[in-house]
Parts: sequence; C-alpha cells; structure tokens
Amino acid sequence: MTQQAPSTLVASVFSRRPDVPMLVGGQSAGPEDGRWIEVTAPSRAGHVLGRVPRAGATDVDRAVAAARAAFPGWRAVHFTERQRALLTIADVLEAHAEELAVLTAADTGNALRPQARPETQTLVSLFRYFGGVASEVKGVVLPAGDGQLQFSRREPVGVVGAVLPWNSPLMIAGMKIPAALAAGNTIVVKAAEDAPLSVLRVAELCSPHLPPGVLNVITGYGTECGAALIAHAGVDKVSFTGSTPVGRTVAETAGRRLVPASLELGGKSPCIVWPDAATSELMDETVTGVLTGMRFTRQGQSCTAGSRLFLHEDVYDDVLDTVVERLREMRVGDPLDEATDMGSLINQKQYDRVRDYIGEGLAEPGIQTPLDGTQRDLSGLEGYYMGPTVFSRADNTWRLAREEIFGPVMVVIPWRDDDEVIAMANDSHYGLAAYVWCHDLNRALHAADRIESGWVQVNQGGGQIVGQSYGGMKESGIGREFSLEGMLESFTHIKQVNVRISPSMVNPAGP
Ligand code: NAD
Repeated sequence: MTQQAPSTLVASVFSRRPDVPMLVGGQSAGPEDGRWIEVTAPSRAGHVLGRVPRAGATDVDRAVAAARAAFPGWRAVHFTERQRALLTIADVLEAHAEELAVLTAADTGNALRPQARPETQTLVSLFRYFGGVASEVKGVVLPAGDGQLQFSRREPVGVVGAVLPWNSPLMIAGMKIPAALAAGNTIVVKAAEDAPLSVLRVAELCSPHLPPGVLNVITGYGTECGAALIAHAGVDKVSFTGSTPVGRTVAETAGRRLVPASLELGGKSPCIVWPDAATSELMDETVTGVLTGMRFTRQGQSCTAGSRLFLHEDVYDDVLDTVVERLREMRVGDPLDEATDMGSLINQKQYDRVRDYIGEGLAEPGIQTPLDGTQRDLSGLEGYYMGPTVFSRADNTWRLAREEIFGPVMVVIPWRDDDEVIAMANDSHYGLAAYVWCHDLNRALHAADRIESGWVQVNQGGGQIVGQSYGGMKESGIGREFSLEGMLESFTHIKQVNVRISPSMVNPAGP
C-alpha cells in the first residue's frame, strides 16, 4: 500500500507557523538584534512557511560560549552515556520521521516519497550508527618494555563549527551532529538559509536528551553568521559541506587560524556504461541505476550526481533512447504528492543558473538535445519546477561537462576505449563520486582502481551507506565523514602518553 503523509500534518507544515527559534545553550533563542529571515516553499512559489532568526556575530558568540561551557562535562562522561543519548535521539527522530520528511519536502522542494522520506531514515540510521560506535574512540598501547606504559588516547577536538547546505539538510546534519557528539565534542551547527526548518526541528527533538549547550543550532546567512562561526576563536574544528568556492574561503579562514577543517564540496561525477551492462536483460537495471545516480529525484541537486554519462559507442543509441524514454515518464510535480518523482528546484537563483547552462548548451554548435526540460509542460505548478534535460554527443571539454550545474541536466559523451574513458572521467577538477556499469569484474575493478574519486560504485547508483567512508578528492574536498574512520579522523585528536613506571609510583598504601 502506498504510504500517505497525513493531510493534517501537511496542512500544519504549510500553515504559517510562529517564528521558529534557534537552539542555544539548551534554550530557544531568537536573534539578538531582532532580524528574521522568511523561509518560503520553493514548490509553492512565494508561500511563506515561517521565519527563522537572521543570526549575527553576537548570536554566534552566544552559541559558541554555550558549546564551550558544555564541553568539559560532555567529554568527561563515560561513552555509554553519550551512546545512550544518541540512541534515544535516534528513536525519537524515528517516531517523528514523517513530520521531518514533510517539513524537509516543504522547505527544500524535494519529493517526499523518493527523497525526503529516505533521507529522514538515513538521519535516524546515522544517529544509531554513531551511537553504536561511540565505544570505538580509543587508543593503542605500545609494547615498550618493562617499566614503560606508552599509550595513545583519542580525544575530542573541542567545539565543532558545522555549516550545512540546503540540498539534503537532514542527511548532512546526520553526518556531522552524532559523529561529533559521540566522540565527546560539542557543536554549533549553522543550517542553510534556504532549508533550515527540519534542522531546527531536529534540534528541538534532540534537546531534552542532551545537556544544555552540547548541541546548538543557529540560522542565518553564510556571509554573516556562517563566516563568523568559522572565524570564531572558540571554534576548534570546522566541518563544512557546501560549494567548492565557499569551501575555499572557509579553508582559508580555518588555515589562518590553524584549526582543522573537513570540507565536503562539489562534484561533476562520471557515470560510465560498458556494453556488457546494456544487454537487453540488463538495460532496465542499468538505466534505473544511471538515473538514480544522477539524483534526478533530487532535481540533480546533489554533489554526488553522476552528471557526465559516458556511453560506449556500441550501445550509445540504445542506452540513450532508454534513458530519455524513462526520463519522459518521470513525474515532475508537487513534492507532497506521493506520485511525484521530481519536485522543485530550491530557489529563483538556482533556477536561473540552471536555465543559463541549458541556454548555453542549446546554443552549442553540434549539440543534440533529445530532451529539453525547459520545454516540459508544467502547467498547474507554481514554483521552480523544471523537467530533466539531456545533451547528447557532448564534449568533455565543454563548460557543461566541467562545471557543477546542480540541476536536472545530464551530458552524454561517447567513448570507445577504456583508457580514453578513464582519462576523460579523470579530466575534471572534481573527484567526489563515480559510477561504473560493467559486468566484467576485472575491468570494473581496474576502472575503480584508476578513477580519481573518493567514492566509486560498481553496478549500483544509490546513496551513501551508513558506515562507509565518504568524502572527495581534488576540489571535491578534504577529509572523510559518514564512517567510524571519518569520525575518528574528523572529530578526534590523538594524544600520546608515555609513562616511566618507577617503584616510587607504587601505591603507598601497599597491597
Ligand atoms: P553554499 O556553499 O552556497 O552554502 C553552503 C553553506 O555555507 C550555507 O549554509 C551557507 O549559508 C554557508 N556559507 C555561505 N557563505 C559562507 C561563508 N563565507 N562562510 C561560511 N559559510 C558560508 O552551498 P549550497 O548552495 O548551500 O549547497 C550546494 C553545494 O553544496 C553544491 O556545490 C554541492 O555540491 C555541495 N554539497 C556537497 C556535499 C558533499 O557531501 N560533498 C553535500 C551536499 C552539497
């Protein structure tokens, strides 16, 4: 039976709510200087969902001070206490999953069934996962001979300043909050100005289960409170997810302050189809995976979108025809409608940006456009809706094939030779994800070995699996999150303690 969001829930999310406060020091907090930002639903153009604080430097000061004050207590407790809190929160979030899914569908425009609901489940799983591995924050003992105790400790870094993007706010919050807290850090999270509502609701749901100040969530513009948070002297570690240009400025600020920074940035990921994955038996499965990998159900607004599709000449036309046929069948519509496959883009700026890229593609000499999303009949929809676009016989050197469009636009590029296609796949300043469609295991693994990306999937196109290491190479970022290794690398320091055990250290009370 198809799941349906209760109509009362949808109505309450779309009814204008009272101003939604931040979470600072365990308390609801408005903006110090009284300025607010209106949050609108991109799928219902102009509809105001509510207002959130436009935090400034003073609000950042308060949040960082709260996190600093909470840090000694939180790091000192036995890991089982942190574990219990995170597991309890996972249960609470799970109990509110449908509400969170509807809320995130409303402020992001992402469709409820294929995107917002699964994202909420990932959030729950991440709290459960990091709660589960809280005991793994441990060191090693060196066999240093008699009279020596030499051991390392994994210690929390301190106060984490985390900045989130709008495209999958719950999943990215789940990458950062439970990982930082499990390791004994406290955190100040800045939600994206375009999609803050579900993150604020997560904060509200977490708050009763955490000591005050352990989790703080603020809202506002990047250049105001985002930049102030990264630059704040009380922040010991930066965890940023967003675009590469902003990531660069964040890294510069963190670098000047000499604090560690994890950066999860943009991508232009290759998706390569070998002929043996496009036989009549496998065509459907492969094309489904290619479309999933392109994240069309998030309107292509995904850092891991496999937006450069490399098709072998022998199967080029057949795969392309099937891709286009399937995309024509995808339903663009209201994100809250269970039948919708693709919701709306996030805002006017992003909509215009994507249209500009499409305009550039259409004007490119020699281009073929088997599907132009700007021509899709979207009558009856009022928002930033756009159908999928496919440019065929593209060249890997075109701007369309090099820049992250962050919209439902795919470029298809022909290839003949393995070395040639791997070289094209790697000819990018990005290196986040990659998709290999090949049933010759030897060839597939050889390709996975040579592709310069932080994450390669073979014959599947789904999202990150909780517990996997995730992060980019080249300009797609620095550092890993999502996994135990990511938590240890990103949210702990190693301290070495070397002790000479001498007779005088023996307990004077004796045995
Ligand atoms: P963005 O870089 O514009 O903004 C991201 C966040 O940074 C927002 O909260 C914003 O307010 C804040 N910000 C902006 N300027 C800032 C500054 N000077 N200092 C501090 N913070 C600042 O990105 P976006 O448009 O929100 O998200 C889309 C981008 O994020 C895409 O490039 C996408 O690839 C990337 N992304 C990457 C991943 C990943 O895991 N690698 C995941 C999701 C999104």
